[in-house]
Amino acid sequence: MTSTAPNESIKGDSEDQISCKLVSEIIRSRIQADGVRFHANDNIAEYILPGELQSLEREIAERVRDLLKTLLIDVDNDHNTQETAERVSRMYLHEVFKGRFYRQPKVTSFPNDKNLDEIYTVGPITVRSACSHHLVPILGDCWIGIKPGNKVIGLSKFARVADWVFSRPHIQEEAVMILADEIERLCEPKGLGIIVKAQHYCMKWRGVKEPETSMINSVVRGDFRHDPSLKQEFFELVRQQSNLAKSY
Ligand SMILES: [Zn+2]
Repeated sequence: MTSTAPNESIKGDSEDQISCKLVSEIIRSRIQADGVRFHANDNIAEYILPGELQSLEREIAERVRDLLKTLLIDVDNDHNTQETAERVSRMYLHEVFKGRFYRQPKVTSFPNDKNLDEIYTVGPITVRSACSHHLVPILGDCWIGIKPGNKVIGLSKFARVADWVFSRPHIQEEAVMILADEIERLCEPKGLGIIVKAQHYCMKWRGVKEPETSMINSVVRGDFRHDPSLKQEFFELVRQQSNLAKSY
């Protein structure tokens, strides 16, 4: 037994490596250890420990600053872009992509005591997202139709859950499916229908530059799927609702 110096030096090195690890790497390895998917439209809130969002905000700002510099923008002298990296980081993390980093807003469900079984629709609910391909906005309206099951939730909760689901990079078809999954989980309806009509800035601002084109897609589940007359009633209610919305 001679000296402990080599061991101490190894220990010191590994501690340095741990402390130098980027917070995104720490969170990513936590997710990967669980074997969980972390695509752009997945929520990863449960893998982020208290305090880590602040570190992540700083890390993202550094990367955005690198992007601006690579775009040959003089961020040191251009007064308009001096704080842009920090603004973009806050916007991604706490606003437009908050549905990835924050947990679902609290939604309390109540028992359907009166056994309501008439369908109702909620909308238009404004939805805001960004396409996964270019990270430019998708803006649109969403209508939700419910044939109640054993549980009901407050009307405003549909808007809160839709906002949470859409505040991630998405493609519209998947956003609608994920929203349907969340609503089914929250209120277990007998029937569920969702329609989204949205404009994609991928097509308006760049690419083919078609300013008026929109995309409409829908999902129907449960009784809405099995009973064509119920599905028809849902689409008719939404049509009336969207016409009414225009006339007010
Ligand atoms: Zn795109």
